[in-house]
Amino acid sequence: ILPLVFIHLTHLMSSTFGKPKASTTFLPPKLQNLHLAYRLRDDPSAIKLASSDYGNIVKEIPAAVLYPTSINDIASLIKFADSNNASAPFNIAARGQGHSVHGQAMARNGVVVNMNSLKNNRNGNGVKVVSSAAVSSMGRWYADVGGEQLWVDVLNATLEHGLAPVSWTDYLYLTVGGTLSNAGISGQTFRYGPQISNVYEMDVITGKGDFVTCSPKKNTDVFYAVLGGLGQFGIIVRARIALQSAPKRVKWVRMLYNDFSAFARDQEHLISISGRVDEQKYMIAVDYLEGLLLMNHGPLDHWRTSFFPSKDHFRISSLITKYGIIYCLEIAKYYDDSTLNSVDEELQVLFQMLSFIPGYTFEKDFSYADFLTRVAQIEDQQIRVHESSQGRQWDDNLHPWLNLFLPKSHISDFNSGVFKDIVLKRNITTGLVLVYPMNRNKWDDRMSAVTPDEDVFYTVGFLHSSGFDSSLEMLDVQNKDILQFCYNASIKVKKYLPNYKTKEEWKNLHFGMKWETFQERKAQFDPKMILSPGQRIFNNN
Ligand code: FAD
Repeated sequence: ILPLVFIHLTHLMSSTFGKPKASTTFLPPKLQNLHLAYRLRDDPSAIKLASSDYGNIVKEIPAAVLYPTSINDIASLIKFADSNNASAPFNIAARGQGHSVHGQAMARNGVVVNMNSLKNNRNGNGVKVVSSAAVSSMGRWYADVGGEQLWVDVLNATLEHGLAPVSWTDYLYLTVGGTLSNAGISGQTFRYGPQISNVYEMDVITGKGDFVTCSPKKNTDVFYAVLGGLGQFGIIVRARIALQSAPKRVKWVRMLYNDFSAFARDQEHLISISGRVDEQKYMIAVDYLEGLLLMNHGPLDHWRTSFFPSKDHFRISSLITKYGIIYCLEIAKYYDDSTLNSVDEELQVLFQMLSFIPGYTFEKDFSYADFLTRVAQIEDQQIRVHESSQGRQWDDNLHPWLNLFLPKSHISDFNSGVFKDIVLKRNITTGLVLVYPMNRNKWDDRMSAVTPDEDVFYTVGFLHSSGFDSSLEMLDVQNKDILQFCYNASIKVKKYLPNYKTKEEWKNLHFGMKWETFQERKAQFDPKMILSPGQRIFNNN
């Protein structure tokens, strides 16, 4: 609940925002001095944006939205909320792109920090690339990136130096702070780890308003807490991201399987040989690996399935009709001028090791940048999306996504119990279903992110969208049934981009052994439980 004085402030600003003559009579002295009031908005458009997200399911109305012009603005706001000047602390949530699906970046009655606003005040310095090993104090290439920056902007800025981050998300219109608060996963994760495993250092404003520079050597507690920390411990205002030499081009290949065990065996094999050279001296490692289900739910060319040439749609559809589910293995190999002549032969060596249905390989040749921005390109063509001053806007559908991490030992049970017995039989349009494995040794258990306790685990993403022939209720029921199946089959599943309603669920179902540490870190870095209330871990009223 906001302190009375703050309510005065926001009411005042509702009528006066944008007009510098606003009286600051009601402001407490600290805020008057900082002129912070002029950066708070509670006009309908600011409130509407801050009370919605990509999921389009949860709505939480904040009292105001801070449009910071500097990191100090954020620190001042948090200090004020944490100080005794505020008669009761109020909640604060950083909002990156609002691409959460369950209100995680919202703050009911509190203040949402529109991180995008920082971007306009970086004077073009939001992404600083250090490409000379001599200049780099660590002897490594890196980029110092504002927490509000979009990954697509990081890509463009680093490519100018012939460099790029090693680990990505599929979709790049997400903020650095937003994905580092979760993990940031994609087809590179098996090889390089999630994005949180590729950060050297961060600047964070904690829940006490303290500015802390942290790394594996300095303020380590903050560093490990914040990575995968669901926004609970601090707002990331800078991250030092590991870079490598950027490849020029990408061979992007899909192969179809009707047999799940062959599909999973090949996926697991490919992630186990990363970097190994076979007897013919070909590099048989892949640089990217994912997988998806093809079902006759919705049009074949929906979203990423538009990959397939239209001349092949009929025979692929026939295959799906015959088997119900076709498993599609997706790999990529990067190449440049020096490997131009060998990449095709390397792919042939790879193909010989795999058990896909003969004749069902499909290949594309992309520039590296086009490959990384593939999802946005397809969306632009197929989903009603438009740019606005507030960023990318999405369609009006609801998106009750369910993303899971599953131990490898149960992936076959999951295929029969969930893919076949639930998803296929119900025959509701589910949207894209992703399934691919990762190596746990690329994750750092000291970080707040949670994974299953096996060396290899799968991510399965049900990227649902209501609106075709499926309602929110139908998709919710299906999500619940999937989780119930896991529970009944004793599959120790973890949610990725988690959402739970009670502290008990967070403790028992999500964090498990990590709960104590998570709770202690909260007490240390955000003792008044100010930050990211939309996660409903500590603020579930
Ligand atoms: P927001 O939704 O704005 O915020 C998420 C959480 O992080 C909130 O709790 C917020 O308070 C907190 N937060 C935001 N900024 C900061 C900051 N600077 N410091 C501290 N906390 C902060 N995820 C993947 O891993 N891989 C994918 O391939 C992938 N693809 C996606 C594609 C789409 C179309 C969508 C909608 C989501 C996808 N996601 C993916 C999920 C996405 O990574 C998360 O939802 C992420 O949080 C979104 O970033 P954001 O900037 O929109 O964060």
